[in-house]
Order: sequence, then C-alpha cells, then structure tokens
Amino acid sequence: MLNCKLVVLGAGSVGKSAIAIQFVNEKFVEKYDPTIEDLYRKVIEINGNYYMLEIMDTAGQETFLVMRDLYIRNGQGFILVYSIASKSTYFELEGIKEQICRIKNADTDKIPMIVLGNKCDLPDKDRQVKSSEGDALVKKWGGDIDFMETSAKSNINISSAFEQIVQQIKQKSPVKNTK
Ligand code: GDP
Ligand code: MG
Repeated sequence: MLNCKLVVLGAGSVGKSAIAIQFVNEKFVEKYDPTIEDLYRKVIEINGNYYMLEIMDTAGQETFLVMRDLYIRNGQGFILVYSIASKSTYFELEGIKEQICRIKNADTDKIPMIVLGNKCDLPDKDRQVKSSEGDALVKKWGGDIDFMETSAKSNINISSAFEQIVQQIKQKSPVKNTK
C-alpha cells in the first residue's frame, strides 16, 4: 500500500474541514469548529493500486503558523482551497504557495499541488471569483497544477480532487511505501 501525505491549506472558512470530512466520511458538516486541526485517513483505489491517504486538515490560526511550516515540511501533496464567494481567500493562496515553495525549496513544477475553488454550489449572486480566474491562477504558477471548482456541500468534484493529487504525487515525486 502506497502512502500519500496530503495537506489541506487555505484561508479560514473556505471549507477545508468540510472537504476533508466529505471525502473521508461522505457527509457534509454544516458547522465545524474552525480551530480544530485533525488528521484523517482513507484508503482509495485508482486503476488497481491502493493508496493510504493521510489528510492533514489545517486551521491556519496565527498560533499555528509554526505548525503550518511543519505540516508543509512533512507533506507530499498540497490541496490549496479558496472560496468562490470570497476574492480575498483567492488572493491568499499566492502567499501559501510561496510558503510551500520556500519550505520545499522547489518550484511548483516539482511539487504536487491542486487548487480548489470551493462552494461552487452557491448561487451566482454570491460568486466573487470566476472559474476562469482559478484557471488563470494555476496557469500563472505553471507546473501542471490542476484547478477545479468543488462543493463539499453538494459533493461536487471532491473525490476527483483527491484522485488528481494522488496522480500528481505519482508523477512528480516518488511515493514512499508504508513498509
Ligand atoms: P474551514 O475553516 O476552511 O475548515 O471551513 P469549514 O469547513 O469549517 O466551512 C466554513 C463554512 O463554510 C461552514 O459554515 C460550512 O458549512 C460552509 N461550507 C463549507 N463548504 C461548503 C460548500 O461547499 N458550499 C457551501 N455552500 N458552504 C460550504
Ligand atoms: Mg476547519
């Protein structure tokens, strides 16, 4: 069984916990303590191969910034989340991506990464970030980074996002065996 250490990063309230819990427990949590950081595990099968995903759901409070460094250091794949209903959360990803590149001492083309525009179930009137702006962001970063819009609430693209990041880990970095 191959092991993939994933880290979910992004501004507060974008739906990091909701995404992790939707993926692992297949349910949507309407209210989840924003300060909780937790590690989830799930085994998935892709093309006959089994992967043990370890998903670190981060909380991003100031006091946890040192922890974030540690999570990034230990992580193999990074899920960067913004909310399509908040332009500032979209802009925040730039700094997070730079932090990852700095800690990993590598460019984006060497780092398994995916960008998610979450809450795509919301009505058009709530939307602050166009889908094309998500595309433009990953294009600007280069390195084959995938972008997709997701909804933890309506379970849209959640499992695809995790499958994509596993594929990237396979392509970009040798995945360590658990034994
Ligand atoms: P986190 O701080 O990034 O972990 O965000 P949470 O997972 O705690 O979610 C923050 C808020 O956004 C909660 O009120 C959730 O119910 C809501 N939320 C999370 N994901 C979605 C989604 O896909 N669609 C909608 N409409 N709301 C969401
Ligand atoms: Mg959370």
